[in-house]
Amino acid sequence: MPHDPVDLRSDTVTRPTPEMRAAIADAVVGDDVFGDDPTVKELEALAAELTGKEAGLFVPSGSMGNEVAILAHTRRGDEAIIEFDSHIYNYETAGPAVLSGVQLAPIKTERGIFSVSDIDEAIRPDDVHEPVTRLVCLENTHNRKGGIVFPLDRMRDIREFTLRRGLRSHLDGARIFNAAVVSGIDAREYCATCDSVMFCLSKGLGAPIGSMLVGDTEFIRLAHRYRKLLGGGMRQAGIIAAAGVYALRHNIERLAEDHVRARRLAEALSRIDTIRVDLETVQSNIIVVDVSESGLTVDECILLLEQKGVLVVPFGRTTIRVVTHLDIDDDDIEKSVSVFEKVFAKS
Ligand SMILES: *Cc1c(COP(=O)(O)O)cnc(C)c1O
Repeated sequence: MPHDPVDLRSDTVTRPTPEMRAAIADAVVGDDVFGDDPTVKELEALAAELTGKEAGLFVPSGSMGNEVAILAHTRRGDEAIIEFDSHIYNYETAGPAVLSGVQLAPIKTERGIFSVSDIDEAIRPDDVHEPVTRLVCLENTHNRKGGIVFPLDRMRDIREFTLRRGLRSHLDGARIFNAAVVSGIDAREYCATCDSVMFCLSKGLGAPIGSMLVGDTEFIRLAHRYRKLLGGGMRQAGIIAAAGVYALRHNIERLAEDHVRARRLAEALSRIDTIRVDLETVQSNIIVVDVSESGLTVDECILLLEQKGVLVVPFGRTTIRVVTHLDIDDDDIEKSVSVFEKVFAKS
């Protein structure tokens, strides 16, 4: 192929820039299992500051961050209320069941956003036959629903309710900085509505590896122990933490560019007759494209797009997902539009 393909599969495909690689090369490191790595400590303090929490914990992946959080919040036999299309319920290989012995109680929603009354209905009575409702998990932005932002006022209502009912809460904020940039609301405001938050450094923020778990000091002490249990204790992890520090210092505000490009691409795709994009859901950097009326299967669409130099992923039986990120520029958007037009032109 004459050019690299335009890789719209995920915002995880970004590669470290020369500046980020320089930060990695210069990182001061030590053995973080002994608590000796100053760069990891710097990253954990910075993550806590930017989310308004007391403490932070560097974890190798977002999935580990979520699973450590569920371990720390629950006991075996507990139940956690969660959205049906959430990452934790769908993409963490039944981690809550396997690792925590926790049953998930999924709530079906149209747009990924549930309400206080949805939670209220899902709470179990105090009855020896039933699991104990312990935890509520939210996701913002919502991946499977196309990058939708969970509104802050709704999160605040849920906060008030969970506190009143004695429930713990965890935010899967893999893309919480996308939500903050879209809405113009400080990430601290969103994070204040949950006891713990996980966010990813390895997505739109452009770091090669890693996620953060944040919460109060007591919670993070417990989470630290569970991270070790899962094999997540890392030695000279400052090598990768340096990329995270760089990402948090330089790559938050620029997420706005990804959102503008996703919007532009989504609008162009919505004008192609044989595919469908729900523009209302395109709020951040994710576009879900319904190809059910194209006369092609999802696999055929992916192959045809790939042959013309655009990479996307299947996202259910009749939809594909398209994601903008740090390594996608305006030319890539133009090229993608013309490739989609060719592949999906009415014959
Ligand atoms: C990516 C993602 C995660 C964690 O992903 P890892 O690949 O394990 O880092 C968790 N939640 C959501 C919503 C995500 O999009």
